[in-house]
Amino acid sequence: MINSGSSSLKYRLLDMPGAAVRLDAVVERIGRDDSHLRLRRPDTSDETQGCEWVGPIADHRAALAQVDASLRASGWGPEVGAADIVAHRVVHGGESFQGPALIDDQVVAAIRDHCRLAPLHNPANLAGIERCRELFPQVPQVAVFDTAFHQSLPASAYRYALPTDWYHRHGVRRYGFHGTSHASVLRQTAAFTRRPPEAFNLISLHLGNGASAAAIRAGRCVDTSMGLTPLEGLVMGTRSGDIDPAILFHMTRDSDLDLSQLETALNRDSGLKGLCGSNDLREIQRAVEAGDAAARLAIDIYCYRIKKYIGAYAAVLGEVDVLAFTAGVGENSASIRAQVCDGLESLGIAVDEQRNQYYQGGVGEIQAGAVKVLVVPADEAHEIARQALDCLHGVSA
Ligand code: ADP
Repeated sequence: MINSGSSSLKYRLLDMPGAAVRLDAVVERIGRDDSHLRLRRPDTSDETQGCEWVGPIADHRAALAQVDASLRASGWGPEVGAADIVAHRVVHGGESFQGPALIDDQVVAAIRDHCRLAPLHNPANLAGIERCRELFPQVPQVAVFDTAFHQSLPASAYRYALPTDWYHRHGVRRYGFHGTSHASVLRQTAAFTRRPPEAFNLISLHLGNGASAAAIRAGRCVDTSMGLTPLEGLVMGTRSGDIDPAILFHMTRDSDLDLSQLETALNRDSGLKGLCGSNDLREIQRAVEAGDAAARLAIDIYCYRIKKYIGAYAAVLGEVDVLAFTAGVGENSASIRAQVCDGLESLGIAVDEQRNQYYQGGVGEIQAGAVKVLVVPADEAHEIARQALDCLHGVSA
């Protein structure tokens, strides 16, 4: 599985179908002289079973070549080219992909076409794909899209009330992201409750550094909080989530920030970080304990926004069977889960204090009301690998 970010590349070799991780490589600071490669074999606790490399790595192509070279040099094998399938996480599939796709020239062209919708991410994803196709032409490659799971949204949920030709000519609509994570939550929920996905309605909350909510009716996503870009929706680590768009016009008139600085401010200096100076929830919770009022307000705004989305999606779905929390904050912060659900008893949503506090990992049930409240481990790598395998074997995802 290859996940090429804007300045990073993650490579993971998984044994399927169980998804045991055999090798894990992360390259960070791509494009600098002190790029950093870390290789690990998580199947062993032996500290010597890891190695690091620091040096110049110009781009994603070079990063992948360095991963391959380090695997050969370490003798750990198998090299990247020995995999049976290479699955690539691709951020934006636009309206072209409702599921994973076996990569050929046409798919590459479509991903390139969508670079205008995700200028920070798709070019990096593409570089990883192109390099892999050159290096390992014999290995089938599959693209798994962050947007695909949300392609089932009805037009009433994905269209914005904007001039129609913005949609037709410029692709302006809600696409949604974190699709593999929400799909994984759906799959794990179905397995845990022993019900087919068609048999329940689910609100899925992915609360990590990025955060999004998805309303899933009978196995199909019908609404999600991220939009044309991942900026819309919930309050995130450094992204604002929903704001009045006129704030931007006001700021261009009332400050000396230009549009590109405002874009950076909304993506990197807002959210929890903008409100209290940190985007690390653990740090913020420590600050709250020390009496920091800005940190308290940041958490209150964060939880309030999530609660509003739960209310909205309860209305969208009509009936909610399961509310699921996943990702860094969703899995690890009992206090956020409790605060988010506090006061939702009229929707049948309530958290049991003991079960919430003592959640121990895996899929866990923490409800005290009629709606099942689950904590579900984020398992995106497994989901991406599984979808790639299904795609190759012609099973619909
Ligand atoms: P990413 O979106 O980068 O994958 P993660 O899913 O790893 O992010 O989530 C990162 C967030 O999870 C951070 O805000 C971090 O503080 C929070 N987090 C991680 N562990 C804990 C914990 N034990 N308690 C509270 N928050 C946590």
